Amino acid sequence: MTDTIYAPSTAIGGAIAILRISGPEASRTACILGAGLPEPPGTLRRALIMDGSDPVDDGMAVFFKAPHSYTGEDMVELDCHGGYQSVSRIMGLLAGLGFRTADPGEFTRRAFENGKIDLSRAEAVMDVILAGSERSHRAAVRQLGGSVQNRIERIEKALTEILGRMDAAIDFPEEMGEIPVSDLSCQIASVGEELSGLIRESRTGRILREGLRVVILGRPNVGKSSLLNALLGEDRAIVTSVAGTTRDTLEESIDLDGVPVRFIDTAGIRETSDCVERIGVERARRSAGEADLILLVADGSVGILDGDRVLLEETAGRDRILVINKNDLVRGTAGPEPMICPEEIRVSALNGEGIPMLRMEIAKRAGDGTAGEPVITNERHADALRKALCSLEEANKEKDPELIATDLRQALRFLGEITGKDVDDSVIETIFARFCVGK
Ligand code: GDP
Repeated sequence: MTDTIYAPSTAIGGAIAILRISGPEASRTACILGAGLPEPPGTLRRALIMDGSDPVDDGMAVFFKAPHSYTGEDMVELDCHGGYQSVSRIMGLLAGLGFRTADPGEFTRRAFENGKIDLSRAEAVMDVILAGSERSHRAAVRQLGGSVQNRIERIEKALTEILGRMDAAIDFPEEMGEIPVSDLSCQIASVGEELSGLIRESRTGRILREGLRVVILGRPNVGKSSLLNALLGEDRAIVTSVAGTTRDTLEESIDLDGVPVRFIDTAGIRETSDCVERIGVERARRSAGEADLILLVADGSVGILDGDRVLLEETAGRDRILVINKNDLVRGTAGPEPMICPEEIRVSALNGEGIPMLRMEIAKRAGDGTAGEPVITNERHADALRKALCSLEEANKEKDPELIATDLRQALRFLGEITGKDVDDSVIETIFARFCVGK
């Protein structure tokens, strides 16, 4: 038997606060409402909130009867004035009814446990709240509406049907006859293709959800911090003319054409004896290793030096743009330098020249991965899909129907991790740990 929980769902101090109560005893909230529970369920009515004969607030209330509520349990929502006194006095009254304060995400967790939503939709709740750009918000809203759940359930259905036919052929060989292995492998391959498509799209989805990781790399003093500021349009990174100022990495995000872009400014890369700076340089190299796109910055006023060439070699084959900075100092000299590599853009972080073109190029690179509307935006889901695909590939190597069936069941288990049908408690704990109280 679960207990009854309550929590404010809004930040205290606004004009209005919403308190939610959920659980088998939620209807006892009637004891603190002057006119009892609003009738019929689902209608919002004015409600005097009372401490015995003492009015505490004049608000609104709505009662949702189980299972027709967010959590699937009896629920009451109280709207009261948002100040600290109203909220804390009402919370005191709810505690007096024997209710317990809710843990972060406990309402959504109950919704999941009571089968109101699957795990992918529960995860989307926080994605909607935390979305950093319009497109990531749209993707999260679609997932909240069941886009991931529907797609996964369709794939599960296809696999279950294949398994059903195989079981029937094993149990009733006379009536069903043997299923030709080539037929089976065709059907399995077609499910595999659907999984591959979702996995391919997931890079796009990850960029929408987490942002395109753009790492700014270069020797000290070439203007990396200045470039970051110019791209952000604000003075956020510290800029000095002493080499080695940005000793660690610094991260800032912007919304570029609806796509979140995370810029990571790194410590200038050079051979250094300073221990703190050396740690920064190592981090810079590690960040570059995890980047979706590298902005390799060089100082156009001194040309390409050995240190730049090392970085050009280190980043060869990666998605990168060579940014030749300090172009304002180059003007009036012998004319434009020959191009060093095709993905080169000349800018001046100081006067802003070339920055709009660089921003456009970054958005374009993000765009390569963001065409269309991806279903999978969550790395946990992508990982489960990759494992399910591996199981299907294993199935397609087998000849023995028993072993094929075992691999297909394994694939179904991995798909179940996405919707929460087959998932470890530790995963569920981790997911709900990122929730806020009252959600
Ligand atoms: P970082 O060490 O690579 O991050 O370099 P900073 O951004 O700290 O810049 C080093 C120096 O170069 C500072 O004095 C900047 O003002 C200067 N600087 C940066 N970008 C430009 C530019 O486009 N033109 C000129 N003339 N100076 C720049």
